[in-house]
Amino acid sequence: MAEPEYPVRIGLEQALEIVGARAAQHRLPVETGDLADAQDRVLAEDMRAPHPLPPFANSAMDGFALRGGDLPAQGERTFALIGEVFAGADSAPPIGAGECVRITTGAPLPPGADTVVIKENVVVDGDSITAKAGEKLHANVRAAGEDYMEGVIAIASGTWLRAPQLAVLAALGIAHVPVRRRPRVAVIATGNELVPAGQPLAFGQIHESNAVMLASLAREAGAMVVARRCVRDDPEALREALLDAALEADVIVTSGGVSAGEADHLPRVLATVGDIHFHKVRLKPGMPTLFGQIGACLHFGLPGNPVASAVTFRVFAGFALRAMLGVTQVPKPSCARLAAPVHKRHARAELARCSLHTDEQGTQWAMPHAKQGSGMLRGLAESGALALLPADAHEFAKGDVVMLWPEYF
Ligand code: AMP
Ligand code: MG
Repeated sequence: MAEPEYPVRIGLEQALEIVGARAAQHRLPVETGDLADAQDRVLAEDMRAPHPLPPFANSAMDGFALRGGDLPAQGERTFALIGEVFAGADSAPPIGAGECVRITTGAPLPPGADTVVIKENVVVDGDSITAKAGEKLHANVRAAGEDYMEGVIAIASGTWLRAPQLAVLAALGIAHVPVRRRPRVAVIATGNELVPAGQPLAFGQIHESNAVMLASLAREAGAMVVARRCVRDDPEALREALLDAALEADVIVTSGGVSAGEADHLPRVLATVGDIHFHKVRLKPGMPTLFGQIGACLHFGLPGNPVASAVTFRVFAGFALRAMLGVTQVPKPSCARLAAPVHKRHARAELARCSLHTDEQGTQWAMPHAKQGSGMLRGLAESGALALLPADAHEFAKGDVVMLWPEYF
């Protein structure tokens, strides 16, 4: 048999390099979205503060605004109460020497005032108040621009817009934001044995679970799922399904049919309709992973074993989607100590399903799940993390530090 002209059985790092380089060529176009609909979108340009935040000096507390220089160094002093200014007031009376106004949180500081004495610290008597020594100059005042100065980059390009970022943009008065178009993902599950949930199982059949899982992972990664279907292990049906999907999707994710079995047609089919960039990665689970493209559409041929499908989606497809979206935020790498020893026979990198707990000293422990089989969904459903066991290491003692695959979603 002739050697394939694409890399096979490559290491995890090389596979990620290839995926990253291809995905970078498929940066998604920029569109303008309403801020209200921009949750979980990725910002496509640096957003500078069009005005300072806060826009004007205002009170941080309910109290009395006055000139800090008038406050007594010892004993007490009486101030004339000349008015009031509440949040939303359209004007504020200027303050002269020995004068004050009643002020509420968020109200603009009157001209001349630079300090707020909280109401609990004064005695009010009709049209005057008495303040004691010990109050601080400039206390309880939020200066204009103390949060964001006008013109600074408030949210950088490539940032996921989550609740805090949306709040910053809204506070800066920005109603429309440039965001990357959501990647369109088509999910195709392959296998003659698959039956959708809700239908009875005949001999040899199983309920299909990858399509719903991969669609959910795609949405968590910021994508829009444009198709989700099941296809039989038939080269012609696969070919048609891939070509159809490539018409509407930026990324096709298939499950199954990429191993060496008689019904594993995908590598040959992909080679006829597109290009293969690599096949097989020295990774457990996920060895059979296939990556290629049809026209401008990237194709991740993930293994059918459900855990392998989930893990390789996170490692490869999720990574590609972030690159296509131009995400620049890199999550901090996190690590844990193994809560049990592990003996790894093979020379592949392994992503072990683990549950995490933190002890009273603040040490994070990763306990490998008893069910590590790549077909065992329980190990996936009951684990909160993937611990990376490097390819060239084999013996891991209890307490050894392992990297956790970063959580991106
Ligand atoms: P394959 O990669 O096609 O050889 O499939 C490997 C294993 O995963 C087999 O036991 C399949 O029955 C199972 N499998 C494949 N696709 C799915 C799916 N969509 N849902 C659940 N199990 C699947
Ligand atoms: Mg199959």
